[in-house]
Amino acid sequence: MAAENADQLLQQADAIKYANNGEFLTLLNKLDAQSGSLTQVQRDWVEYLHAWQLGYRGEYQHALAAFDALLAHTQDETVRARARISLIYDQVNAGHFEDAFIVMGTVLESLPRIDDRDTRFLAFDAAAYVYSRGGEYDLALSYVNQALAMDPGGRSMCAVRETQIWILQEGGKLRPDDALIRQGLDTCRQVGATANANSILLQWAKAFLHDDRSADALKLLEKNKPGILATQSSALTSDFRSTMAQAYLRTGDLADAREAAQSAVELANQQDEAKSVADAYDVLYRVFKQQGDAAAALAYHEKYAAADKAYLNDVSARALAYQMVHQRVLDKQRQLVAANVRNQLLLLQQQVEAQTARTRLLYILLLLSGLLIVGGWAYRTKRSQMKFQKLARRDGLTGIFNRQHFLESAQDALRECAHHAREACLMVMDLDHFKSVNDMHGHAAGDDALKRTVATCQVLLRPDDVFGRLGGEEFAILVPDCPADVARRRAEAMRESVVASRREGDAAADVSVTASFGVASTKDCGYNLATLLAAADDAMYAAKRAGRNRVEVHDATTAGAGT
Ligand code: GH3
Ligand code: MG
Ligand code: MG
Repeated sequence: MAAENADQLLQQADAIKYANNGEFLTLLNKLDAQSGSLTQVQRDWVEYLHAWQLGYRGEYQHALAAFDALLAHTQDETVRARARISLIYDQVNAGHFEDAFIVMGTVLESLPRIDDRDTRFLAFDAAAYVYSRGGEYDLALSYVNQALAMDPGGRSMCAVRETQIWILQEGGKLRPDDALIRQGLDTCRQVGATANANSILLQWAKAFLHDDRSADALKLLEKNKPGILATQSSALTSDFRSTMAQAYLRTGDLADAREAAQSAVELANQQDEAKSVADAYDVLYRVFKQQGDAAAALAYHEKYAAADKAYLNDVSARALAYQMVHQRVLDKQRQLVAANVRNQLLLLQQQVEAQTARTRLLYILLLLSGLLIVGGWAYRTKRSQMKFQKLARRDGLTGIFNRQHFLESAQDALRECAHHAREACLMVMDLDHFKSVNDMHGHAAGDDALKRTVATCQVLLRPDDVFGRLGGEEFAILVPDCPADVARRRAEAMRESVVASRREGDAAADVSVTASFGVASTKDCGYNLATLLAAADDAMYAAKRAGRNRVEVHDATTAGAGT
């Protein structure tokens, strides 16, 4: 009797753990109280729920230990799978990405032995989540589709739709008028899943921002502000404030942008997604800059650079962790096949003793083709590893260093210059009115112009220069061992060459681009990269204000005067 009752309690507790965590804890207490009369499997489920609650409260380390303890002794395949699935989320939150990918692989391997529909569904949902965190958006979406194909009930459907919308947004593929958003919101609201609905609203607002529809983003966020702020999740509320700050900034409301950004920074936990914090610091930097407070702007720019770097490190750590686990799995499969081929060989050898020369030849050919397959596999694994390492450092569009790799390489070059007390300069280049280039000629022509501009500048680089894309249509070049007046002349040459590149009569010839340059020298800014970047950025904005298509050199004595 007690055992049956306990099964009901367990199911109920599991079902409401997110939606009504208070009631869930009451049920968990009841279960604890009758622990003596429970079966072993029921006790394992209770243990599972306790571990889950630790993760829910953000105590990831404790949750990891609790799940490990459960996994060490439970004999029940379903409990094991469920524990592993919940564990994966805590591992990701605790930054243990490699472990998360390994456990995910174990869960997916165990799925053929698991009949429980809910568990299979949760496994697909977790795979979508964890692979998207590794930057594998297409793989993640394939698991979203497997989960959706199971046509789960309302609450699960809501969760998976939220994941789908989040992945599309992260991958820059969510359009604000996508019907998926409405569907997701309806599904989640029908089952009272407020947290999921709020997260969808936030992704929707980000999609508006991405499409330069700041007023729509703001309207949406303001309308849903009370509901979103009522949630307990610091990650969600901080992200919400940060997104609002960006929308306020873009609509020119500096006071509200500043307040929202400051509270985004205050609300964030250390474990929370650093991206929203970096974005909030960026807003603060721009607000103070526009208000002419150069000192505060610089301070926030440094915080922005640090937070942004931490975030990018996190992103590439996740991608790298995924690749490492993935390569290891490929390697294991390859070894299995190789072992198999060797076994076949032994077997064949024994049989061949008795065979004619003709069949012997056939066997040898078979064997050779097996070896070729294994060899080809090894070759492809190696090649994809090398390709990945290169991709992780390069910008996909232009092929030059991406932001993170530029920052690292520039830092190294600066350290070297500081060591030998040599002057170095940093140039920042931002294309002028690039938004209208896109608007007038289309995004593809804009992309072409970006590639052309990079190629044009590359011709003028020296071997030691470090060239990178900071983001969008903004680039930076660190020139070691170079005084400011030489750097100015070199920037001038690049500026002219960018202007001239449009006249070289190819198909895209009518797409004219110009660029504004800012130059800063270690002589008046020191060897700190963040300081140099902020100073070069300042000079670049001065060039914009002075009419664009110009080079300005940062000057410590006049900096901030015109802002
Ligand atoms: P400003 O002279 O003040 O710099 O004007 P701007 O239009 O360049 O200003 P802003 O920096 O606000 O806009 C940059 C635009 O660059 C926004 C975006 O549409 C476009 N852009 C950013 N990255 C890419 C890209 O990879 N490809 C294309 N085609 N356009 C991009
Ligand atoms: Mg621009
Ligand atoms: Mg720009």
